[in-house]
Amino acid sequence: KPLLLEKIFGELVEEMRLSNSKHHLLKFINHSKCGYALLDEKLLRQIIGNLISNAIKYSPSESTVNLTLADEDELIVFQVQDQGIGIPTEDQERLFEPFHRANNISNIPGTGLGLSIVKKSVEAYGGQIIVESEINVGTKITVKLPLKEATEPEKIIPEWQPRK
Ligand code: ATP
Ligand code: MG
Repeated sequence: KPLLLEKIFGELVEEMRLSNSKHHLLKFINHSKCGYALLDEKLLRQIIGNLISNAIKYSPSESTVNLTLADEDELIVFQVQDQGIGIPTEDQERLFEPFHRANNISNIPGTGLGLSIVKKSVEAYGGQIIVESEINVGTKITVKLPLKEATEPEKIIPEWQPRK
């Protein structure tokens, strides 16, 4: 069943606002005309939720996080942009490896798993994830997903299991 994207985004942003003790300004801008997509709601929430929580975690209190939703041909495109610590160039490609964390995070806690899960989910949909970042300026993560579901993601994403 198609999902109304604006509704999902709106709800998520609202949840993040309520749980955000760092008082960020979360700005949600919807440019999407299509509005509906054949995506799994749980997966979409997981993808966007992870990106927003990173944006909040790696940027100063009360800074702005911009969230945009748009269409591009047969794709839905969403972006999460923060004004945070940024990601060193040499780490940008490795962020999606499980447990990889950049060296500029000082004592900010985390496991280094969020983005590896996001990437698997995005790829299960035949989508793409793009990182643009500048140290001490901010980070912009763009996710592009085909409007039509390419595969059945639940069959592709295995449950995470510890290495034997
Ligand atoms: P968790 O598993 O709890 O999400 P994490 O946030 O460290 O832990 P990821 O979400 O996978 O793990 O992110 C991997 C690394 O990428 C982070 O440790 C951080 O170095 C970097 N990173 C991710 N998002 C941002 C961001 N918005 N700004 C700066 N660095 C980021
Ligand atoms: Mg994270």
